[in-house]
Amino acid sequence: MEPISSIYFFFMLAAASIAILLFRYTLTLRRFLKSFIKLSKKVSNKEFHSRLQTSARGELGELSRNFNFMMETMENTIEEVEYKHLQLTSVLKSISHGILVIDIYGNVILINDEARKIIKSKTRGNEEGKNIKQVINVEAILKEIERYVGSKESENNNLTLEDETVYKIKIDPVYLQNSKNAIIGSIINIEDITEIVKLENMRKDFVANVSHELKTPLTSINGFVETLTMNENLDVDKRNRFLAIIKKESDRLKRLIEDILLLSSIENKNNLVTENILLYDVFKEVYEMINYIAKDKNINISYNFEDEKIVVEAYGDYIKQLFLNLIDNAVKYTPPGGEVTINQYTKYDEIVIEIIDNGIGIPKEDIDKIFQRFYRVDKARSRSVGGTGLGLAITKHIVNSLKGRICVESEFQKGSKFIVTLPKKIS
Ligand code: ADP
Repeated sequence: MEPISSIYFFFMLAAASIAILLFRYTLTLRRFLKSFIKLSKKVSNKEFHSRLQTSARGELGELSRNFNFMMETMENTIEEVEYKHLQLTSVLKSISHGILVIDIYGNVILINDEARKIIKSKTRGNEEGKNIKQVINVEAILKEIERYVGSKESENNNLTLEDETVYKIKIDPVYLQNSKNAIIGSIINIEDITEIVKLENMRKDFVANVSHELKTPLTSINGFVETLTMNENLDVDKRNRFLAIIKKESDRLKRLIEDILLLSSIENKNNLVTENILLYDVFKEVYEMINYIAKDKNINISYNFEDEKIVVEAYGDYIKQLFLNLIDNAVKYTPPGGEVTINQYTKYDEIVIEIIDNGIGIPKEDIDKIFQRFYRVDKARSRSVGGTGLGLAITKHIVNSLKGRICVESEFQKGSKFIVTLPKKIS
């Protein structure tokens, strides 16, 4: 072979080898790019567990390993973030108050279900990122929160809505971590305190009523005692009349104090154990007591007990007190010559007790109020028959504590029917 043609041949061979090598490398690179594109699609579909499957060596191999390592780190970080988010949303969900977190422009960052309910969210489930104006559907709450958007001060206010719901709204600034000046928004805690406010008002009313009720007989006693001490020469008749008034007023005081103590003991249910009580026996005891007074007033008490052996599970003297209050009222508010009837029967596995009278009845507008403490349709009449205004409040408490119900049907000047329903066996 000529030397020129052997050089030519050598170059041809080298060029062919390079071309083969380049071709192979291009194929590997294409395969690598293909799997890279496939993976990037998976990542954009949030499939962070995917990895590059390639047998490439050298630089491509190193790139794959580094990339897979990066994917693994990303997957772990995302899992951690998701777990933290889950923890946060679970905590938020479990908080019984409404929690709303907003940024300094009033955009919602976080919200829990209770807050959604309270603000009557306009975008249920899609509040995050939206402004409170687009989300809050209760004007008064929106106005209250808007006043403090971006504020660095903590605020605490009670807000009463038109429907008398009372919310306690507490707004605190949220500071950027480790910063004492830069705030990133506010956290708003909304608590429904309607019941607490109601109870507090009831307590205040009760204290005011008790003081008033106690003051009246005390003032009277005080006045008559003073008159007696200042007028030693009063004639016997007058003296006895004044003493009788003092006795009557002090009896009233005693009854009032007894009723107040009874009411508070029923409310507190202190150290009480339930017993099996024969309903009929307790009724008979009360009947004997009240029948004396009824006979004096020429009122006839009759009764029909379907089952004289029926037993209720109740605390101490509760059942006696229940019969006493209702039958006593029936006699008290029935004019002479009237009729009082007590019926007992079982309906739908519950014990029903009816106390019926044909007395003065209760006006329609008062029926809902007579179970309130110290409520009396006619104060003077109640006082003249020795009422304290607490009997029905006590009875209602007793019935509730026995998991029963009490209701009244009445027609003014025709008569009343009180219906008590008790469960046969109290769990
Ligand atoms: P009181 O000590 O005044 O009787 P209660 O709580 O027992 O207080 O009753 C509240 C009010 O309900 C009474 O003042 C009376 O106006 C009315 N009331 C209760 N029972 C009857 C009844 N059987 N008939 C008519 N009115 C009644």
